[in-house]
Amino acid sequence: MKINDEKRIVAQMIRLYCSKHEGNEQLCTACEQLLTYAHARLERCKFGDAKPTCRRCPIHCYRPDMRLRMQAVMRYAGPRMLLHHPISALQHLWNELNSPSHQTAPARKPKPSDSAP
Ligand SMILES: [Zn+2]
Repeated sequence: MKINDEKRIVAQMIRLYCSKHEGNEQLCTACEQLLTYAHARLERCKFGDAKPTCRRCPIHCYRPDMRLRMQAVMRYAGPRMLLHHPISALQHLWNELNSPSHQTAPARKPKPSDSAP
């Protein structure tokens, strides 16, 4: 998924969380910080446009405190994204289902027969 799409989605999620969950009309300072932080992390993501969604990413690049806040946002906004931003939600879900997992997969030992013609 493109970094710009990710940025848009993360912004939508944080705004959703801040307005519906926290009841703020405008993005509060804490959420503003989180959003700025998340965007900065995305820009520095070494996977670039080939990045897996952050939940699947093997590199947990968030600071622990930011990570906790982002988890709260995702937990709240995740299911609600389908209602408010269905396209983004589906895009994200689709990407998550289809992106190759970078987690350490159980190492499959190559059998001699694999490389044989
Ligand atoms: Zn907020």
